[in-house]
This record gives sequence, structure tokens and C-alpha cells, in this order.
Amino acid sequence: MNTDRAVDRLRKLRRDTLLQLEEIRAAVGVAVSAAAPAMEQSEGGSLDADAGAILFERDRQLAFELEYSNLLESIDHALTRANSGGYGTCEICGNIIAADRLKAIPYAVRCIKCQELEDGT
Ligand SMILES: [Zn+2]
Repeated sequence: MNTDRAVDRLRKLRRDTLLQLEEIRAAVGVAVSAAAPAMEQSEGGSLDADAGAILFERDRQLAFELEYSNLLESIDHALTRANSGGYGTCEICGNIIAADRLKAIPYAVRCIKCQELEDGT
């Protein structure tokens, strides 16, 4: 297991994820400020179609933000594991994580068996 190369990949992935997260946050800010006047205009409790669409867009972006935040946490966790020399081994059972799995998910810290147990699949 070439940990240095794995750490490089993780750092790059982390940078990309941060950039995407910033873009999403900026987009959420735009959607929220666009929604504000539309919501003020709608009286009597019901949102007009525009405000509804903007709110839907905002929710969608917030969901993305959550997803990317979780991804970032996973990457940080994997980097911590790499720094302590544990990259590529399962944090639950200690077995080697399959190279194919690490190729697909460089921030994986569990072998596929332990992950499946965790996910309940
Ligand atoms: Zn395991």
C-alpha cells in the first residue's frame, strides 16, 4: 500500500470537495436572497409559485451541502487514519481493505464486510 500516493489523492479530493462546497454555499445564498422578496409579496400564507420553486432549489442545495460536508468528514477521517499509519486497513476488524475498494472510494476506512454490517445491507 502506497500511503503517500493515497494521501495525495485524499488531499486533492479534499480540495475539490471544499471548492464544490463553497460553490454550493454561494448558490444557497443567492437562492435565499432571491426568495426573500418573493416571500414578502405572497400574503395570506400561500407561497407563490416562484417562491416555492426557489425554496425547493434552496432545499436541494442544502441537501448537497450536507452530502459534501459528510464527504469532507470522511476524507478528514481517512487522512487521520493515514497519518497514524492505518490507511488501507479496516478500522473495525483490522483486515486489509481491498485495493479495488480504495480505488473507488479512497476515503474508505472500513472493509466492505464491516461497511455492509454498518449499513445493515
Ligand atoms: Zn472490516
